[in-house]
Amino acid sequence: MTSLKTVPFVDLKIQHEPLHKEIDQAIQTVIQRGDFVLGQALREFESAFAQACGVEYGVGVASGTDAITLGLKACGIGSGDEVLVPANTFIATVIGVLQAGATPILVDCDPETALIDLNQAAKVVTTKTKGIVPVHLYGQMVSPRALLDFAGAYNLIIVEDAAQAHLGQREGYYAGSVGSVGAFSFYPSKNLGAFGNGGIVVTRDEDIAKTLRSLRNYGAPSKYYHTELGINSRLDTIQAGILQVKLPHLSQWNQLRNEAAKQYDELLKPLENKGIVPIKNYSEEGHVYHLYVIRIGQEFPFNREKVQDLLGNKGIQTGIHYPIPCHLQPAYKALGYQLGDFPNAEDLCQQILSLPMYPGLSTEQIEWVGSQISLL
Ligand SMILES: *Cc1c(COP(=O)(O)O)cnc(C)c1O
Repeated sequence: MTSLKTVPFVDLKIQHEPLHKEIDQAIQTVIQRGDFVLGQALREFESAFAQACGVEYGVGVASGTDAITLGLKACGIGSGDEVLVPANTFIATVIGVLQAGATPILVDCDPETALIDLNQAAKVVTTKTKGIVPVHLYGQMVSPRALLDFAGAYNLIIVEDAAQAHLGQREGYYAGSVGSVGAFSFYPSKNLGAFGNGGIVVTRDEDIAKTLRSLRNYGAPSKYYHTELGINSRLDTIQAGILQVKLPHLSQWNQLRNEAAKQYDELLKPLENKGIVPIKNYSEEGHVYHLYVIRIGQEFPFNREKVQDLLGNKGIQTGIHYPIPCHLQPAYKALGYQLGDFPNAEDLCQQILSLPMYPGLSTEQIEWVGSQISLL
């Protein structure tokens, strides 16, 4: 038992312990069948996950990064094409675009939601712009209606980065069901996590699904016959078996995250005029809160690092998602951006702090976190 006064940032054991026997059984089944690569549990999980997202097809891949890369490629996006991407995302979004051979064009975010600002995106569309990778950051979807209008106006392909938004909903759409394809990650700490790396691309387009199955499997639609320049990127059958056991619990876990967020919202409300402001939720129950992120404004007596230290001293673990926007990362200098290009993203990166968030986080723990922030 962890003591009440220690609040970890995430705790995966809480969700796995009750499923221990079922997960063992799923692993044993794969071992007995011996179909470790592209096996039965993978096919079953692919269908189940796609169906949960409200689309027909799912294609399991090795990671969320590969899901973005292969999703773009399967939509015909590659060399010579420009793809719009938010400046404040996990770097894997940018890597996905680069691995597809396309050029990422970064876009500033809305300061309230931290989601890509489509008005800013409109300003950098060129004749080369072929797609957009909206990131459903922290578990909140970019408005599907706004996204579809935008993509329609400029004739762009949408490849959703839904790595933080499994079963997230907004305006009647599930994450991953808005664009031509949706890319998900099953990195262990995501809302649906494997026991290792994994990812999936979902789509309602049968041809795109076919291309994806070939691309992830050496570009071979049938054995030893290669029609595409593919790679080796598959979701292991054992991982799919584990995910199959976890999937039926996902919407309840998401609900618990949403309830935890509501409690945080209530506790932090009085601090709004002091400069502590949670990232805004315009999706109500549809926000699946992969992360609960607050903004520590300049008017607050302590800066973000100090707040993180002070909370750490009380046993409260926090995170920063993410401390440096993509355009200021040393490895991405060649993209040609500089400090000041995306002021909203830059401010946000300096002020945000992610509070403990996972299904199983108790109301007492949330109260403790809230009270300690209030005491600062
Ligand atoms: C985790 C994540 C990814 C990458 O997923 P991996 O499985 O780690 O490759 C991509 N985009 C976002 C927004 C993520 O949070």
